[in-house]
Amino acid sequence: MEKVYNFSAGPAMIPQEVLKKAQAEMLNYNNSGMSVMELSHRGKDFTHILNKAEELLRELMQIPDNYKVLFVQGGASAQFGMIPMNFSKNKKADYIDTGIWSKKAIAEAEKTMKVSVLLSGKSNNYTAIPDISNLKIQPEADFLHITTNNTIAGTQYHHLPKSIEVPIIADMSSDILSKHYQVSDFGMIYAGAQKNIGPSGFAVSIIRQDLLERCSESIPNIFNYKKIADNGSMYNTPPTYGIYICKLVLEWLKKQGGVSAISEINNQKAALMYDFLDNSQLFRSPVSVESRSKMNIPFTTDSDELDSLFIQEASARGLMQLKGHRTVGGMRASIYNAMPIEGVEALLSFMKKFERNNATH
Ligand SMILES: *Cc1c(COP(=O)(O)O)cnc(C)c1O
Repeated sequence: MEKVYNFSAGPAMIPQEVLKKAQAEMLNYNNSGMSVMELSHRGKDFTHILNKAEELLRELMQIPDNYKVLFVQGGASAQFGMIPMNFSKNKKADYIDTGIWSKKAIAEAEKTMKVSVLLSGKSNNYTAIPDISNLKIQPEADFLHITTNNTIAGTQYHHLPKSIEVPIIADMSSDILSKHYQVSDFGMIYAGAQKNIGPSGFAVSIIRQDLLERCSESIPNIFNYKKIADNGSMYNTPPTYGIYICKLVLEWLKKQGGVSAISEINNQKAALMYDFLDNSQLFRSPVSVESRSKMNIPFTTDSDELDSLFIQEASARGLMQLKGHRTVGGMRASIYNAMPIEGVEALLSFMKKFERNNATH
């Protein structure tokens, strides 16, 4: 198939422009006669790529100087385990449970810490973010962990908890760089790369420097944030090609006008989707209006057969990977930064057609 729109939740779509640039540079990067994959990670070409990726991220997210930017192998799931390993002082942590990824983070922390789940969306099957207006963060907690966007349930915080004493650690895997976040509101932000940053296999972790003083010598070096920071994300060989693609994606994002410009487009894309779903005779959104994600949009018909027919016919038209997560069913359109508005329009035009053909089913 020539032209498709990929609605996958991750690994997700990468801008065409980025892939073309990578293709053009594949065999001979910067006149080195080698591909990026073959460059020494300590040589000047790769050092430039790594520094540039960090510099662009700092600029795009307005990251203050007292935060370290790390490229950490093992994806977001590695951070689930590394966060308790590195930041535990009192061995107590607060978590908010907003779905499967939060639960996985909690399960990892429970192995070594006393975890208090302050709020959980479980009772409404994670279709809404719990009300945080009376959130009581425990003063002795080592940190509070949240998941800003819930990739599977399709929910997103539109108001964030605030805390000065207890650092907030946020899993932003599926909404980093999609809208403006004030980095200084957090002790740490992390994100698996394969949604809004680049290819899978590593995470970007942005950590306030004072927290690094908590990382103990007893942690294996490869999992120790302080060691990774002290070695400029090169304690060992970093995922060089992934970081290169990340740099290209960040250059692309800057060219689009940065986070504020892309966030406007993301608002428009999400509004188009939800306006249609809320007025449809056939499709609906299972997510509470005030918690809806602008990145991952689950939807269903009332029939499993129609859902599978929809997925099948959509993919025959180049609208790919719309099947919902196996635990939720139905459909899900992931519309990260790289999804152009034309992709959403193509999806909606097919949904309207499908509705006309099947609404009286
Ligand atoms: C995808 C995802 C993860 C897992 O990322 P890996 O890189 O596969 O470990 C964790 N949290 C959230 C919110 C995600 O969307």
